[in-house]
Amino acid sequence: MVDDCIFCKIIAGDIPSSKVYEDEEVLAFLDISQVTPGHTLVVPKKHARNLLEMDETATAQLFARVSKVAKKVEAATQAKGMNIISNMEEVSGQTVFHTHVHIIPRYSDQDELAISFTEHEPNFEQLAVLAETIKNS
Ligand code: AMP
Ligand code: ZN
Repeated sequence: MVDDCIFCKIIAGDIPSSKVYEDEEVLAFLDISQVTPGHTLVVPKKHARNLLEMDETATAQLFARVSKVAKKVEAATQAKGMNIISNMEEVSGQTVFHTHVHIIPRYSDQDELAISFTEHEPNFEQLAVLAETIKNS
């Protein structure tokens, strides 16, 4: 429990939330600002700043629950699809520094969520160098 962390306070029950799933490791609740109806956050109960700070076991536990909750949200909302996003650090848009995974049901390509993967011509030499660097890191 981190004193000034809003999600730790939600987990402790000090701040109310609209819970949709809970077990020993994880809590899932509706995002207070619904990007689309059913927008849900899946949060590990043990505080970590974001996924980059968590080990593989904790991450695997979290994503097992993301899968479970995503299917519950899909069944409840009849969404046509969804985006699953976890922001890490300010540069990516992270505003709450307790790991969370957004489940955002999608109803239309006009939903109020814009993620754009700008297209680039592939440079295969650069790709090979970058892949090697990542492989060896
Ligand atoms: P991010 O920008 O990825 O760090 O997302 C943080 C999310 O937490 C935002 O979508 C907020 O709307 C949501 N949020 C902040 N406070 C609360 C709260 N008290 N209950 C539910 N969701 C919250
Ligand atoms: Zn926390």
